[in-house]
Amino acid sequence: KKYVYLFQEGKASMRDLLGGKGANLAEMTQIGLPVPPGFTITTEACNEYYSNGEIFPAGIWEQVWPALAEVEAASGKLFGDKKNPLLVSVRSGAKFSMPGMMDTVLNLGLNDDTVEALAANTQNERFAWDCYRRFIQMFGDVVLEVEHYNFEQILESAKEKQGVRYDSELSAESLKWMVIEYKKKIERKTGKPFPMDPRAQLMEAVLAVFRSWNNDRANVYRKINGIPHEIGTAVNVQSMVFGNMGSDSGTGVAFTRNPSTGESALYGEYLMNAQGEDVVAGIRTPNPIATLAQENQEIYQQFVDFSKRLEAHYRDMQDIEFTIERGKLYMLQTRNGKRTASAAIRVAVELFHEGVITKEEAIMRIEPDQLEHLLHRRMDTDAKLQVLAKGLPASPGAASGRIVLSAEEAERLGNLGEKVILVRTETTPDDIRGILAAQGILTSRGGMTSHAAVVSRHMGKPAVCGCDALKIDYTQGLVVIEGVEYPHGTIMSIDGATGRVIKGEVSMVDPELSEGFKEFLGWADEISRLRVMANADSPTEASNARDFGAVGIGLTRTEHMFMDPERIPIVQDMILAQSLEDREDALAKLLPMQEEDFYGILKAMQGFPVTIRLLDPPLHEFLPHSEELVVDITKLRMSKADPGSLHDKESLLRNVRALSELNPMLGHRGCRLGVSFPEITVMQARAIFQASARLLKEGYDIHPEVMIPLIMGKEEFIMMRKLVDDTAAEVMSEQNVQIHYKVGTMIEVPRAALLADEIGKVADFFSFGTNDLTQMTMGLSRDDAQGKFLPIYLDKKLMKTDPFVVLDRDGVGKLIGIGVNLGRSTNPKLGLGICGEHGGEPNSVEFCHIVGLDYVSCSPFRVPIARLAAAQAAV
Ligand code: PEP
Ligand code: MG
Repeated sequence: KKYVYLFQEGKASMRDLLGGKGANLAEMTQIGLPVPPGFTITTEACNEYYSNGEIFPAGIWEQVWPALAEVEAASGKLFGDKKNPLLVSVRSGAKFSMPGMMDTVLNLGLNDDTVEALAANTQNERFAWDCYRRFIQMFGDVVLEVEHYNFEQILESAKEKQGVRYDSELSAESLKWMVIEYKKKIERKTGKPFPMDPRAQLMEAVLAVFRSWNNDRANVYRKINGIPHEIGTAVNVQSMVFGNMGSDSGTGVAFTRNPSTGESALYGEYLMNAQGEDVVAGIRTPNPIATLAQENQEIYQQFVDFSKRLEAHYRDMQDIEFTIERGKLYMLQTRNGKRTASAAIRVAVELFHEGVITKEEAIMRIEPDQLEHLLHRRMDTDAKLQVLAKGLPASPGAASGRIVLSAEEAERLGNLGEKVILVRTETTPDDIRGILAAQGILTSRGGMTSHAAVVSRHMGKPAVCGCDALKIDYTQGLVVIEGVEYPHGTIMSIDGATGRVIKGEVSMVDPELSEGFKEFLGWADEISRLRVMANADSPTEASNARDFGAVGIGLTRTEHMFMDPERIPIVQDMILAQSLEDREDALAKLLPMQEEDFYGILKAMQGFPVTIRLLDPPLHEFLPHSEELVVDITKLRMSKADPGSLHDKESLLRNVRALSELNPMLGHRGCRLGVSFPEITVMQARAIFQASARLLKEGYDIHPEVMIPLIMGKEEFIMMRKLVDDTAAEVMSEQNVQIHYKVGTMIEVPRAALLADEIGKVADFFSFGTNDLTQMTMGLSRDDAQGKFLPIYLDKKLMKTDPFVVLDRDGVGKLIGIGVNLGRSTNPKLGLGICGEHGGEPNSVEFCHIVGLDYVSCSPFRVPIARLAAAQAAV
């Protein structure tokens, strides 16, 4: 059996047998690059070593020695030679990278003779003896299992004797002394002298690498990362090359393109007469790679050629390590280079234009979530952060500012040009002005679909929600985190992408959308089948959404239009009206406002469909909290002034109490409101059609679609649809125009999904409201679960992901599948989409593609992410 492969015998596809590192070194050798010669002992040899009861497979050394002879020939050096000795590295390398978990030995082959040769060849006695003492230490520790502290003690006394503080100050003489002491120590500990024979050294080192496959660290690492135990590790034996053999030697690292901008130009640094460590250690300042051309034109040109070849071969930007030994260039390692999101896009786009990859490949190269970085301000990655607490990453982006605990304060300071973070237990429509004025929002309660989260995402404002560790004391005007008090006015920062709450100000990086980015997303649209629409509630959001490439609005939450502080009292009047007359008064005030809203949105989205959902207010979001009212009333009573307002407050409190529900999310909301108060539905329909009539007369191409929320079955839908159709007919005859519109429904209640065939007969479209559908299918409160017990479920691995973030394909997804199939079975023309928060989450978008929806709808800032995810689903 073949246990040993020279690098020129292997290739990239042999990772199972040669491990990742071995296969890569082989591949680089195969494409003709100057890789320091070497060979790989296979993972099979390692596995047989273990299955034989920790004995080397028979015949293995008969293969190693000839391979070593080839390495000697290729390098022009001999193992153990007194003039030009071959030194090798012995490294582990499993199929999957396990950084630092297994053992490595460098400079193997050094002994009392070859160290002298190394000193002569590098003309650097200190360096040679430092290599030697490090080798003995590494070998002693890793192979002979003499504990590290033994060597540390000797090192310390060497420094003491010479009177220096740092290792780097040790003289050649001190190092020589250390070598003697190290060897003595090893002999005392192991009962045997340190092996001087390089072949004996090699055999023991290979054994140590095999053994290290089974050490505790490696076992734990494999368990955590799901790497199977049976795959074993390979061992790579490779000749060492030295970048410090004089002024014609050197070492460096380079990317084939700029990893932060993606610009197509070599980017990296090097040092002459130095080793890799010197570049990393920062003792000497490396030079930019371009100046290598002045140093040695020929080598530079070679490096340029090699890196082009590597990039062409791997068809991606490479991160390369190289060494020059006495005027000869060696390539030590190459891998796909890590890069920023904007570099990733530029590299992918340019590789396509260079004919290296296809559009589909370019699309697959970018993680959709990476785009998030390009769309929002974010924290400077170099910034040092003092993280105080963590909440839910509710709306991406980052902000710094003074913390304020009320919307009024946020507005007041905001108007003075101060940057503020609005901190609340949770937000309500009353806070909207404060949210507008603030740089960011931080709440201690509420999940990813809470008011604060949804509103912030729509505005593109950073928010951290459900930050449990945060205790807010409104009366004292401070917040407490882990026992520490932070008065209002303290500067804090929030990172909505990770949920971190940070003390003090943090430096930020602004987003920018390049032409390449737009081109890239254009390809995504060519490839995808799903259309991407946006959830938008205002003309500004609609035009943002258009800029991000949305082809319509999949959800306008009309209750968000009622949140304007000017309207809140009218909305409250409408909700609290005790008679039809009172309600119609309030509605008459709201009608022109709503008409303007719809006019603006339809106009901003002209040419595309705009789905307007009828009012779906969880009523509690629109009414003052009864506790706050009680406080106000008590104050008024004590002051004994203003009996009028006392009376008003008291009757408000009575009404609030009468309307209060134990389960408002399962209560009087959605179409249930229209069923109870048809006049509200009629007002909204009238506003939609009057706005449409005006726009049509002005020549706009508009596509209004009316959506009925939260139905349980066809009966409610039929009743609501009739109100809408009748109103449309009225407005059309009054205005003498023909309006083309659709009426569809949300599927948010499991029963509606199960009866979708019945509903499909009477509806023009379905939009799956997966926020509520998840809540009701799983019986999880969308407002509370995330802050309370869901983390425990995730922790205990009862769930892989938060179902309010990543759609639960097994359960909720199954219902969607049923809804899609039943709906289409009775209405082949039925339009199908999703408008819950999942509509912008890549994994869920993929599911929407698979289940056969026509479109996804998500908040404007997630539109680019959804476009990319939709394309990836189609590739
Ligand atoms: C939903 O339930 O998924 C939905 C989009 O409606 P809302 O979040 O407004 O309840
Ligand atoms: Mg809903």
